[in-house]
Amino acid sequence: MPKRIVFLMSDTGGGHRAAAEAIRDAIFERYGPDSMHAELVDVYKHMSFPANKMPEFYPWIVSNSTFAWSVAYRLGDSPKRARLASRLTYRLNRANLRAIVRKHPADAVCCVHSVVGQPAFSAFNSFPTRPPWVTVVTDLVTTPYFWYDRRVDLCLVPTEEALQRGLQCGLKPQNIRVTGLPVHPNFMRRLTDKPSARTALNLPHDRTVVLMVAGGDGMGPLLETLIALLDKRLPNVHYAVICGRNKALKEKIDAVVEQWGATHVSSYGFVTNMPQFMAASDILVTKAGPSTITEAAIAGLPLILSGAIPGQEDGNVRLVIENNAGAFAPGPAKVAEVVSAWIAEGPAVLAKRAESVRRIARPNAVWDIADAVWAAANRPPVPSVPRARP
Ligand code: UDP
Repeated sequence: MPKRIVFLMSDTGGGHRAAAEAIRDAIFERYGPDSMHAELVDVYKHMSFPANKMPEFYPWIVSNSTFAWSVAYRLGDSPKRARLASRLTYRLNRANLRAIVRKHPADAVCCVHSVVGQPAFSAFNSFPTRPPWVTVVTDLVTTPYFWYDRRVDLCLVPTEEALQRGLQCGLKPQNIRVTGLPVHPNFMRRLTDKPSARTALNLPHDRTVVLMVAGGDGMGPLLETLIALLDKRLPNVHYAVICGRNKALKEKIDAVVEQWGATHVSSYGFVTNMPQFMAASDILVTKAGPSTITEAAIAGLPLILSGAIPGQEDGNVRLVIENNAGAFAPGPAKVAEVVSAWIAEGPAVLAKRAESVRRIARPNAVWDIADAVWAAANRPPVPSVPRARP
């Protein structure tokens, strides 16, 4: 009988789905195609209004209202407040969340989303027994306290600082450990050498390729950053701009490219071959998204962080800077300055930066996590403790 594993996630940004798919596919690879029946459940979509609109609102909120986002983040940036907010979310959505439990019988739950984790756990815990539960933290460093629920069986985190925050929330040391952030096994395999990747993508071989990404949803001032870079008129550079799911952004970028007659820019919507793009590039300009940083580390691609979601991604910037893996250049003008400076330094210095960025990579994380989730699915259900607090 295949094991039924339910992945709790939400399409808020691209990282949660990417993490769930990475773990799911690693389990299939390691334990066989018939080993598991996997379901990815977008928890927000099952909640009542306005939470059920979160996957649609999220890119807008993050792009247009960083102040509101940062206030919301700070409100939840204390273990106590995060627990209170989670309890309230559960109360307001109890029936809908319990419906998820009935609809998706599971031998194990793997939760890859911070905010929905505790309320969903409460729903599973409201039945006489519950499946073993593994939380996989997909923020890197300044992880929101929503992630940490003392009731879960195992919490897997990407960095030592994320682990310390979990201990601060009362998780027992035996229930939390550092694995790294999961990246899809195919990511490593598709990282070819640079010339092959450039040929496949039809990118020039004789220019410095600057890859520009803004998360799965194309968030933040990508257009303004491209304009600032074009304004610099750097010689021998090609810009590969990935707009993700943001169709409006792609249209605006295409209009600017046409207006400038910029043949050294290529733009893309949501791409499914990110490893090829990273393999082909020399420099990555990105917001400080955890998955993109982790992938760039595996690809050995030096990073220029053009911005960070306040609070939540601040620690990611620190991680990159402290490890000499890249630079923080908040705002389009600063990005243009740093790209220009890096190109002026020449390829030897860029190669050194690539070496440093590789040092923060943990390419085996996805396998460690897959093994842990599989082990959980092979354990018996856990008797619920109804009054236990997160
Ligand atoms: N991504 C992708 N195609 C795109 C844009 C992004 O596959 O066109 C992936 C990217 O490789 C990464 C994820 O989406 O795995 C973005 O995650 P990140 O944590 O960097 O940012 P988020 O979108 O979650 O804010």
